[in-house]
Amino acid sequence: MESVDISKLRNEKYNATVHHIHKSHSDLMVIRVRPDKKPIAHKSGQYTLLGLGNWEPRFPGTTEENLPETERSKLVRRSYSISASVLDNNGQLADNSKEPWVEFYIVLVRETASGKAPALTPRLFMLKEGDRLFCGEKITGAYTLDLVKPTDSVIFLGTGTGEAPHNYMLQQLLNRKHEGKIVSGSCVRLKKDLGYLSMHEELMRRYPQYLYLPLATREPENAGKKVYIQDLIRSGELESKLGSKLDPASTHVFLCGNPAMIGVPEKNRETGEYSYPKPEGVIEVLEQKGFKADKGHHDRGNIHFEEYWS
Ligand SMILES: Cc1cc2nc3c(=O)[nH]c(=O)nc-3n(C[C@H](O)[C@H](O)[C@H](O)COP(=O)(O)OP(=O)(O)OC[C@H]3O[C@@H](n4cnc5c(N)ncnc54)[C@H](O)[C@@H]3O)c2cc1C
Repeated sequence: MESVDISKLRNEKYNATVHHIHKSHSDLMVIRVRPDKKPIAHKSGQYTLLGLGNWEPRFPGTTEENLPETERSKLVRRSYSISASVLDNNGQLADNSKEPWVEFYIVLVRETASGKAPALTPRLFMLKEGDRLFCGEKITGAYTLDLVKPTDSVIFLGTGTGEAPHNYMLQQLLNRKHEGKIVSGSCVRLKKDLGYLSMHEELMRRYPQYLYLPLATREPENAGKKVYIQDLIRSGELESKLGSKLDPASTHVFLCGNPAMIGVPEKNRETGEYSYPKPEGVIEVLEQKGFKADKGHHDRGNIHFEEYWS
């Protein structure tokens, strides 16, 4: 494709600029994007779209893509939860809703289970500060703190970059002086995949009500054990860390990331009955303890979830 076409397409399709990038390692980044128009009012926990053209270069070492020429001028867009570095550069509690940029926490997908080349992340990981991209003007989603009362316990459980919306909700809870306990569990393969670890450690020093629970399943100390978030709940470890029983009357649980961890029950269209997927996900473990997952806008429970893929 001619370079003149590319600059025309970029001018037409892009509406935002990369403000800042921090890579924890080659495959994991926190990226701040500054839309040309000020970001619209939104709630913590919500998501928007990021996009780049198929004409943009791809990160080396990711599955090769063979696109027909007719696809080359198209924009590829994906959903991303808004994240937050809870503290600002001076170590003060920040309020990201007032910033002209929006923060995201993104992992490079090198290959997909289906074998199809991942479309967007190999391009996002080529971006540098000052580069242009597409950012959605709509910020949306029901995965928010709307139902949480000031004294409730709040438990965030995520896999990988699934802690993104939790970080933003945590910032909001601390800003509104939440009185209940807050636990954020994050399940990753290796410790290096905990991109916000030092921030969480600092927050635990400052806020006695806050606990970050990282779980790195592929580190040598966990070799052969296969401990997942479900096991933390089944074994009672989560309750012992919380210092009290998981009480459905005063606890909200937020689950984000890998659908296998979440385990959303499926509705049988004929009988109307729900059945849990196998292996057991967190929803099944918690519903055995008296919790209830959201089943749509009009039937909300105390387990809320956001699946990153299906
Ligand atoms: C509401 C919502 C919010 C999301 N927020 C985030 C976010 O904050 N950060 C983020 O990294 N991703 C997030 N995602 C996933 C994101 O939309 C893309 O699917 C992901 O970045 C892969 O895009 P891709 O075009 O490179 O791969 P695609 O061509 O879209 O391939 C999709 C496949 O990639 C794999 N995959 C997708 N997401 C992940 C992931 N996070 N970790 C490991 N494997 C994955 C799955 O196998 C999936 O089937 C979110 C998804 C949804 C629906």
